[in-house]
Amino acid sequence: MDDTEYARARRDLVADLRRRLDVSETVLSAIEAVPRHAFVPEPQRQNAYEDRPLPIGHDQTISAPHMVAIMTDLLDLGPGDRVFEVGTGCGYHAAVLAEIVGPGNVFTAEYVPKLAEAARDRLDRLGYDVTVYAGDAREAFREEPPFAAASVTCAPDGDVPESIVDRVEIGGRIVAPVGDETGRQRLVRLTVRDDGIEREDHGGVRFVPMR
Ligand code: SAH
Repeated sequence: MDDTEYARARRDLVADLRRRLDVSETVLSAIEAVPRHAFVPEPQRQNAYEDRPLPIGHDQTISAPHMVAIMTDLLDLGPGDRVFEVGTGCGYHAAVLAEIVGPGNVFTAEYVPKLAEAARDRLDRLGYDVTVYAGDAREAFREEPPFAAASVTCAPDGDVPESIVDRVEIGGRIVAPVGDETGRQRLVRLTVRDDGIEREDHGGVRFVPMR
């Protein structure tokens, strides 16, 4: 496929997401702006605009476009909001977030050093000003002021770690898949209030486990 064909496939994907999902036009425009094919390994390129996860190596995956759309919509972001992403993978979702919040506002952590390095190079090459930390997200960006939101793209067991919830300001949102003892996962949105955490359930999901 050439660039025109990729762009057409991406427009078709966005039209399909618009029909199927109740997400904002801001989110759909962000997805339309990011070249997903540039984030997947060569053999997967022709599948880049199918709405499903794809393998990216190191036993990890790029999330399905509808999942990126739903999570991004729940984060309820606007220009200038600072976002903390847990699990960079190939960097695709970080790029979608950056389209909404703007340059310098996305901070993402990736446990697998080779994926972190590759994502950093790719985001840079594509012109996204995103900060990538290599290592455990629990230790990342400690010196940064609190974030408006956190997007967790790997599933912690039990609940979102305190060390991540603590990084989000009052009024901020955390969207995360949370695993239970049976191995099932639910997508949750936590809102940090001054008197505690408000919690909503957004249905069953499937993500790689958080390490
Ligand atoms: N956001 C990605 C999806 C990444 S899959 C996208 O745009 O498609 C989840 C990623 O979380 C994997 O790459 C995995 O290595 C990473 N991960 C798992 N545990 C982690 C941890 N404790 N800290 C940071 N990253 C972690």
